[in-house]
Amino acid sequence: MSSGDDGREALRRSETVLVSACLLGFRCRYDGEGRPAEGAAAALAGKAVVPVCPEAGAGLGTPRRPVQLSGGDGAAVGEGAARAVEVEGGADRTEAFVRGAQLAVEAARRFGAGAAVLKERSPSCGCREVWCDGRRIRGAGVAAAALRRGGIPVLSEDEL
Ligand code: SF4
Repeated sequence: MSSGDDGREALRRSETVLVSACLLGFRCRYDGEGRPAEGAAAALAGKAVVPVCPEAGAGLGTPRRPVQLSGGDGAAVGEGAARAVEVEGGADRTEAFVRGAQLAVEAARRFGAGAAVLKERSPSCGCREVWCDGRRIRGAGVAAAALRRGGIPVLSEDEL
């Protein structure tokens, strides 16, 4: 069974689901926009939703400078083996990204979320793909990896 299958099964069974706030239309993206996803809204019908934006929650403002991962995916960032850096200029935002990921895990636990639906390709929320050193690579964002490490199955809007 793939991780996508695990995530879909966990989503089906969960009464409470953590969701990337931008997928619900919150304008919390780096560019000040949201990314409302019809598929996510349909998949979440009848469930309690916990909206989170790890980056805004960590105190990175909106709008903010875009960030990519460097040296590895979000799991590697969590292990201290990679970093989150601004695309232009390379300022290190690793500490804030790790803090935002912790907030997401705490919210999932506090509200009893049994699964998370997250925005694909985000350096925080990507579930299968992220931007790293200018390339799209297979891997998770920092928050998605932390949630998986904490036992919360994650899947992206592309996997619903
Ligand atoms: Fe959306 Fe996640 Fe980026 Fe926040 S950090 S804007 S929730 S993808």
